[in-house]
Amino acid sequence: MIKLHDLEFVPFISEDEIAVAIDKVAIGLNEDLKDQNPLFIAVLNGAFMFASEVLKRFNSNCEISFVKLASYDGTKTTHQVNELIGLNEDVSGRTVVILEDIVDTGNTVEVLTTLLKDKGCATLKIATLFFKPEAYHKENTIDYIGIEIPNKFIVGYGLDYNGLGRNLTEVYQLKSRNMTNLVL
Ligand code: 5GP
Repeated sequence: MIKLHDLEFVPFISEDEIAVAIDKVAIGLNEDLKDQNPLFIAVLNGAFMFASEVLKRFNSNCEISFVKLASYDGTKTTHQVNELIGLNEDVSGRTVVILEDIVDTGNTVEVLTTLLKDKGCATLKIATLFFKPEAYHKENTIDYIGIEIPNKFIVGYGLDYNGLGRNLTEVYQLKSRNMTNLVL
């Protein structure tokens, strides 16, 4: 059991299970994207550990860019404006792979997909280490999934709770008696 801020978390997914999940994702990527010189786009902060392990397992030429998704209210419209910070590469005509730590509702990957398609990428794939099928309510196909998990809050392996827990090498799940007072 570990404590982060005011909450207790219990072990949930071991280092070995995470490694097997990343192996599976990498096998799919190596099969599908050989000799395509894909551009991997790792979504910060959470995806840094996953991205590192995927890249170590990818066998042909590739590039990587680390991005952040910023959302703010536009001044001239009522719509929310989404912007990719840190993407300096020209993606037009390229094979692009989004690397996410976790896909929950799917809102983030949907925004990213729209932004990258608008920039003209030719092929877009989505790879995520963790996927919550019960929470997902979008149409985008998640092409490579490491581990499907129930709709519970997890930390570790890049994922945080209010800034803590990203450095944990295994994944922990919120202890259920904490659930009632969780404010995210
Ligand atoms: P979405 O709902 O857009 O698919 O996920 C948005 C973001 O919520 C993820 O990139 C991640 O930062 C955060 N998130 C979703 N589920 C969890 C979780 O179980 N633990 C943590 N630490 N973050 C999560």
